[in-house]
Amino acid sequence: MEAGDANLHQTDGKDRATQSLLNKLIRSNVVNNTNQVEVLQRDPNSPLYSVKTFEELRLKPQLLKGVYEMGFNRPSKIQENALPMMLAEPPQNLIAQSQSGTGKTAAFVLAMLSHVDPSLKWPQCLCISPTYELALQTGKVIEQMGKFYPEVKLAYAVRGHKMERGVKIKEQIVIGTPGTVLDWCIKLKLIDPKKIKVFVLDEADVMIATQGHQDQSIRIQRMLPKGCQMLLFSATFEDSVWKFAERVVPDPNIIKLKREEETLDTIKQYYVLCNSKEDKFNALCNIYGAITIAQAMIFCHTRKTANWLAGQLSKEGHQVALLSGEMVVEQRAAVIERFRDGKEKVLITTNVCARGIDVEQVSVVINFDLPLDKDGNPDNETYLHRIGRTGRFGKRGLAVNMVDSQRSMEILKTYERHFNKKIGRLDTDDLDEIE
Ligand code: ADP
Repeated sequence: MEAGDANLHQTDGKDRATQSLLNKLIRSNVVNNTNQVEVLQRDPNSPLYSVKTFEELRLKPQLLKGVYEMGFNRPSKIQENALPMMLAEPPQNLIAQSQSGTGKTAAFVLAMLSHVDPSLKWPQCLCISPTYELALQTGKVIEQMGKFYPEVKLAYAVRGHKMERGVKIKEQIVIGTPGTVLDWCIKLKLIDPKKIKVFVLDEADVMIATQGHQDQSIRIQRMLPKGCQMLLFSATFEDSVWKFAERVVPDPNIIKLKREEETLDTIKQYYVLCNSKEDKFNALCNIYGAITIAQAMIFCHTRKTANWLAGQLSKEGHQVALLSGEMVVEQRAAVIERFRDGKEKVLITTNVCARGIDVEQVSVVINFDLPLDKDGNPDNETYLHRIGRTGRFGKRGLAVNMVDSQRSMEILKTYERHFNKKIGRLDTDDLDEIE
């Protein structure tokens, strides 16, 4: 691999980890999905169990209490099948794939807590995550769900957690990043991998996008004993993830839940003809009253335009939120959370910054600049993702595209042709259309 490629690889990994973390930080509910769960059993003759309630799982009372305390009433779609498999005796291996927010983390956390013997004072469950921040997030879920099971203790194998060589770890669950976990197993001998009963590899797609993590994960997996339960989770399933998953998890059961398709069927699309950036701003001011009846997201091509637009709108006395690439993840999450809670009606952002973030309740989208790919060409996927709605849950929405040149008009036409959906002209001096 060329050095340049390696760099690209790193950025991709970092990017994906950031997106994943943001989605975790802003999510308060399990994602609805109407698709059918696909289940592939290792032993096709054994009956397929699925549960509709947490009681059916015969959890320890302390854990059931923890689950209810978290506000879970019943298993999510993926949990219905994944939990019985993970809690079966003898333990079964599992590869599960579903989009972020569908309940994977909660499922494996429950499995780890169920398999632990708190009277034994050594690590029995090992979970690896791609980054420090993601490991901490999962740790929080373990702490929450295990709230009424305080005998079970958790250790974080992450950078900065300095440990002395040979001091044995007493905590029953260890969560960490691959490099530090390897050190704790091999160099420092803090964990005896032969005593691990449950091994979880979370966010496999993010994991392999980071240089070195794939090899480290496999080295950890090889040290585990034969009967150890292996569980692997991923939000997406490209070929590369699949190949990796098969190396990490022998004889797996497989559960897949397809992402809900986005459609333009429930959205009204318009364009506004303008001459310049300033003209676009004026047009936006004209429709501002109409769009802020609901919540609106405004997309700009560059940070500079986004900053400028936020400034101009503020000057007009409008209260707007700005999501910017300069912000660290926690700041971005805070901005999105305020917006989600309705503290601001309008969120201005760039495409790069908002990529991969699901803000479901937004019903108005303004493309202040039309989405383009890196080379300045139309980007159908991004157009769909920005304004599309998912299946039956989609509320009716409105999208307004600002067009300010011959070129952007041509791009608009390609979107119209590609999706075979009419984009009507909107006269911002006469708004009867959109009311
Ligand atoms: P994933 O790991 O697939 O991204 P999570 O396990 O983090 O999904 O769950 C996403 C959100 O849904 C979290 O806020 C979590 O607390 C919540 N959640 C998970 N399972 C359930 C459930 N059965 N009922 C209600 N909420 C749930």
